[in-house]
Amino acid sequence: MSAQIIDGKKVSSDIKAELAAEVAELKKGGLEPCLAVALVGDDPASHVYVRNKEEACKLIGIKSIKEQLPASTTQEELLALVKSWNDDPSVHGILVQSPVPSQINEHEVLLTIDPAKDVDGWHPFNVGQLMVGESTFESCTPSGIIELLKRYNIEMAGAKAVIVGRSNIVGKPVALLLLHNDATVEICHSRTKDLAAETKTADILVAAIGKPKFITADMVKPGAAVIDVGMNRTEEGLCGDVDFEAVKEVAAAITPVPGGVGLMTVAMLMGNTVKAAKQQAGVVERSIV
Ligand code: NDP
Repeated sequence: MSAQIIDGKKVSSDIKAELAAEVAELKKGGLEPCLAVALVGDDPASHVYVRNKEEACKLIGIKSIKEQLPASTTQEELLALVKSWNDDPSVHGILVQSPVPSQINEHEVLLTIDPAKDVDGWHPFNVGQLMVGESTFESCTPSGIIELLKRYNIEMAGAKAVIVGRSNIVGKPVALLLLHNDATVEICHSRTKDLAAETKTADILVAAIGKPKFITADMVKPGAAVIDVGMNRTEEGLCGDVDFEAVKEVAAAITPVPGGVGLMTVAMLMGNTVKAAKQQAGVVERSIV
């Protein structure tokens, strides 16, 4: 039997509708959540991502500010912009779209963003909070994966989760979130010795590799839930890290690409922005920052 398709399009639009209702209530109380985005340079994919974020803000009723900066922008200019947003009480969430040009030290930019406004969840303070299981802005793609698992009633407690990929923005944080949800977690990477032997033990398999159709059916345990984070642009169009057509005949549940995890990232970013606005306005308790 073919796997259940985990519909990121439906779940992300449900979340956006829930957030729109919440924002309408907040606005009645005089609070308008606001997300400020800096886009440095001309990376075409970044322009698409930023446009998607702006459209989601508009749909939900979040104010969005976009600062388009030239590729020649200096570190000092970018830091000055971030600091001005840190100091502006009407701005609740800040992000600098990645990747940035090579003259920009991205880590220093992240360190400069006020952790209370770090809606990407990439500031080392928030990463540390995640590590110790304290309240934080969870980074958006990993929290989107957890939300999909929850909304499809895929049991995490006691499940064996195998993550292929150990990046700071996907692999490591999703491993921590799965651990906090009581999965038994294993992280694989390019130096893993017998990858298929590891992935075949997974009840929940997360692929965050960046290689088209890398996970094949023989690498998947029958009945597993397979989460495909990959976004690879190929001649045939956008394609995931999982060989979807073959793996869906083995797995019990699977995310498509497009239409899976990708759409969740923006929805979770919107959720973090609303959370940041409520924290800064004192509507909900703030974390330590
Ligand atoms: P990175 O390139 O930072 O990390 C890729 C990981 O895959 C690395 O840990 C690497 O191992 C591992 N890897 C590479 N080759 C192999 C191999 N042959 N066997 C086992 N492991 C391997 O990528 P990201 O985490 O940033 O992104 C991964 C994918 O997810 C990309 O396609 C990206 O576009 C997509 N993505 C999608 C998002 C969304 O919103 N849906 C958001 C972010 C990313 P090692 O560390 O040893 O090099």
